[in-house]
Amino acid sequence: MTDMGKRKRCTAIVLAAGQGSRMGMKMQKQYLDLGGKPLLYYSLAAFEKSKIIDDVILVVGDGQILYCQNEIVKKYGFTKVDTITTGGKERYESVYRALLVMEDEDMRVPNRDGYVFIHDGARPFVDEDIIERTYEAVIKYRACVAGMPVKDTIKVADEDGFSKETPNRKFLWQIQTPQVFETMLIKEAYFRLMKEIQEKEVKVTDDGMVVERVLGLPVRLVEGSYENIKVTTPEDIPVAETFVRKREVHKYIKG
Ligand code: C5P
Repeated sequence: MTDMGKRKRCTAIVLAAGQGSRMGMKMQKQYLDLGGKPLLYYSLAAFEKSKIIDDVILVVGDGQILYCQNEIVKKYGFTKVDTITTGGKERYESVYRALLVMEDEDMRVPNRDGYVFIHDGARPFVDEDIIERTYEAVIKYRACVAGMPVKDTIKVADEDGFSKETPNRKFLWQIQTPQVFETMLIKEAYFRLMKEIQEKEVKVTDDGMVVERVLGLPVRLVEGSYENIKVTTPEDIPVAETFVRKREVHKYIKG
């Protein structure tokens, strides 16, 4: 890691309040068993181990706070998770609720600027290299998102299902998390979004777009990894299990 001067507080927001409807299961995907541990365990473990992250806000579904507190945070000894809060109906509402928690804390301890790492709990394979790359980028560019260049050709469809356009693949990235921002900047973007969203019909699918659209600021793309998948549909599960096994083997070899 490069010398970055005085360390500012780095908070991770881990989102686990989704319904996981595309998984087609009763159980929410964040609690799905992956190599003997709940899927959510893996991203929390990455932030717990990280030299960069100071604290974690975990966002869960209605009525799940106690379960997560006992069965995940206490059970696996995640000392950095100091707040568990409930999310909203949409992902952006869950992010907003976590930012409100931060705002509340910052009122009590003012001038505590720093960085926020917003991460999907459904992405178990975030690692220290990705955290480090996004950290270095946020210091330089104020706002960045992890992602990878697409491997397939992407087409834009028209309403009738015909190809309307084939953008140059060189400029296309699939976006992942963490998405990392200066704390003040992301709070400002979200607080304004929540005021404006009533008037405009916007589909908010990531945090980078909130900064782009609401504040008009550039968001840097940073290399994530092709393993940093979001476990979304049933065919993702065997892939995720393979990655877990691969990591176990690496750990064993390294000792
Ligand atoms: O639905 P999607 O796959 O985009 O969800 C990405 C992440 O955001 C998941 O980790 C999910 O649990 C979380 N989420 C949330 N609150 C919602 C919807 C999704 O925390 N209302």
